[in-house]
Order: sequence, then C-alpha cells, then structure tokens
Amino acid sequence: MSMHFHFPVSCPVKYFDYYRLLVGGASTCDFADFVWRNRSPPCAQFFMWLLVQESVKNRALLLTKHIVPDTACELCSTNYEDANHIIFHCVTAAAFWSVLGIDVGATPSVRCLWDLPRPPCIPAAHFISFIHLCCWHIWKHRNELITIFFCMRLVNEGLLILGAVVEPTEAVCTVACVKGAYIRCRNYPRQQLYGCACHCAPPDGKRCVVHLPDRKAQRCWKRG
Ligand SMILES: [Zn+2]
Repeated sequence: MSMHFHFPVSCPVKYFDYYRLLVGGASTCDFADFVWRNRSPPCAQFFMWLLVQESVKNRALLLTKHIVPDTACELCSTNYEDANHIIFHCVTAAAFWSVLGIDVGATPSVRCLWDLPRPPCIPAAHFISFIHLCCWHIWKHRNELITIFFCMRLVNEGLLILGAVVEPTEAVCTVACVKGAYIRCRNYPRQQLYGCACHCAPPDGKRCVVHLPDRKAQRCWKRG
C-alpha cells in the first residue's frame, strides 16, 4: 500500500518541519544511532542496516526461501550458516577478529554489534566506523571466496577452464573464465594449471604463461 501525504495549503508547518519530525523524532529503533550516526561510507552503513536485522543473504535465510537445499557454510565445515556465523565464527572471520584483539565471544549476536569491546588502541570516536568497515570487508571477503570456490568447482568438474578475452595490460587482469585454456608455470613443470580470473596463477608462480585455446600463449600479468 503506497502512502501519500497531503499537506493543507493553510497549514503553517513547513515541509522541513515534517522532515525533522520524521528523522529526528524520539521513536527511533535501538540500532539507528549505531547504523547511521557515524562517518562510515553509505555502502557500509546500508550493509550494517541489513546486518543488525540479520537480513544479509546467508544460507539459513536462503533456505527459508527454498533457494538453497541446506544451511551448510560454503567456507568451513559448519552445517549452519547464518549472519552470526558469517561475521563472527566462520574461519576467516574468527581469525580476523582474533588478529585485531577483539573478543567477539562476548557479543552473542549481530543484533548488538555496538557491544563489541573496544581495544584501547582504537579511538572511541571512530570505533563504530571501524566495526562497520570490519564487518563490510568480512562480508566482501566471504563473497569473493565463495565466487572463487564456485569457479574452481566448475573447473574441477570440467565445466569451466581458464581463458582470456582481451589483451592484458600492466594494471588490470584481463583473464576471464572461458573454456579451453590453462596455465604453465616454471615452479610447476610439466603441469597444466587451471583457475579463474586473476586468482589463476599460483601464489609462488614464476613466469606463468596463459595458453589460450585459439590464440598464442601470453604472460600472466601478475607473475614475474
Ligand atoms: Zn563458515
């Protein structure tokens, strides 16, 4: 149902007064200040708005919509992935908080992220934005890993093989996933390596070369 506000012409209240009533009223939710009153970029704020309501996409949520068959986390062996697992307990997230020296065990839910204990080395004035950015990057990192794992699974199943579509440049990896190509690497002699995008070359790769199905071989832009 759409809502329409009709202001009487004779009404002495200006539109700005209505706006102030809407955004500055006393009836705000308990996470409003945490989500919006800070210096975080809008993309992180919007993500946090979803996160504190446990509305970011996760396996438990997608199962209720019959989009996925189960709630198993795609990154670790846990069989129940919800918003709390993604932000606090999944393998890379837990390691991330541990390195920062923040004990997330004291905070039972993403619904009260503002209760995270602040390490003394982080100024109080910026701690909320710091939490925003941490959660935002944990989320992005998780999605990147899932994308990589998905591509690698397709590679292993023979459905997707590395290829390249345009000429490489010094700054941008132009390798994309197409069928019929592979990498050779000096550190892995006599092996054909497969992968996806700029994650193709092995971390210790040396003089990696992408062999294309219908073009000449070309150097991988990342590996010297
Ligand atoms: Zn996990």
